[in-house]
Amino acid sequence: MIDLLSSILDAIVAVTLIWAILRAVRNFFRGPAQTFVGAGKGRGAAPPAAGGETARDPVCGMFVSTELSHRLVEDGKTLHFCSEECRESYQKSAVKA
Ligand SMILES: [Zn+2]
Repeated sequence: MIDLLSSILDAIVAVTLIWAILRAVRNFFRGPAQTFVGAGKGRGAAPPAAGGETARDPVCGMFVSTELSHRLVEDGKTLHFCSEECRESYQKSAVKA
């Protein structure tokens, strides 16, 4: 019984060791802690991960934080733009009649 227990313990220790070694090897090849570099601020960037709401800029299609966006209220709806330029070009294209 004691032999069985000790062999089980040995097995657990061995598995743990192998696992630790494998993980170390994997980390070695992969480099230290995976750092996710943001997609940048270019057009078509992914929506910001930070809290708060995001809305899509109808001009360039970029996601912008509703807190930081350039807003335009139209027909009771608030539109969010990434920049003054986008808002202006939206207003220009909307005004044409
Ligand atoms: Zn835009």
